[in-house]
Amino acid sequence: MTGPTAAFLPGADRARPPAAGDLALPVTGSKLLTSVDGRPLRVDDLPADTDWVPLGTLDGVPAWATDLTTTDALPGRARGWASLAAAVPEPYATLAGRALAVVTWRRTHRWCGACRAELADLPGETARRCPDCGLYVPMQLSAAVLVAITRPGPAGRADELLLVRHATGPTGLWALVAGFVEAGETLEAAVHREVGEEVGLSVDRLAYFGSQPWAISGPGVLLAGFTARAADPHTEPVVDGRELTQAQWFGVDALPAQLPPAYSISRWLIDATVTAARR
Ligand SMILES: [Zn+2]
Repeated sequence: MTGPTAAFLPGADRARPPAAGDLALPVTGSKLLTSVDGRPLRVDDLPADTDWVPLGTLDGVPAWATDLTTTDALPGRARGWASLAAAVPEPYATLAGRALAVVTWRRTHRWCGACRAELADLPGETARRCPDCGLYVPMQLSAAVLVAITRPGPAGRADELLLVRHATGPTGLWALVAGFVEAGETLEAAVHREVGEEVGLSVDRLAYFGSQPWAISGPGVLLAGFTARAADPHTEPVVDGRELTQAQWFGVDALPAQLPPAYSISRWLIDATVTAARR
């Protein structure tokens, strides 16, 4: 066992076949099948001929995914990752995100991109290889950055935090500046570029905060969170009008109610910023 809290260890070990009591994470489309109350199903809840893919272990118990084309006659309830992550403990939410990522990757990486042969699974890895030309096709992550930017508030007032609204997705939400890392770019350079592109600001005192695997913006996304200060506190943000519709400074003691959900690193960053400003 791994300690007082449940821990998820990713893996791809097929050496031991699925056992009846192992955790089962069936994926249907972009949703996961769970018990009605959101708990994971077990391998023996599904038909004996189910094709299982290894995901790793949760608190030492092996976990398996499968890609279902129909959920007719199966127990439980299909739900998206956001609704599941909001309702279950973090290690299970992370495991569920990996199930979605692995199944989606297997669906979309069936053929060799170089010679069109059918790829073959590599034992012990979440990866495939082309039997004809040898191309190695591992499941890859997309890295994205997000940043909580602050500036000193007016004299005698709390510091201010920059929040933005997006043109697509949950448009009512006040979120953080964020974006995907480009090939050839460091995480830090991506933060500076995204801040410049999205709100026209420069930042300094950039500091790493933490990271979170994220299954909403697409499978296989790793979010890296940062804090930073506006380099010139008198410069106002200017939105690009395409990705963002609004950008606004808020006193950390007067944040809007429509903030990112409690299970997101966006929210952890915002809460940590508020705590640090009150110190
Ligand atoms: Zn090939």
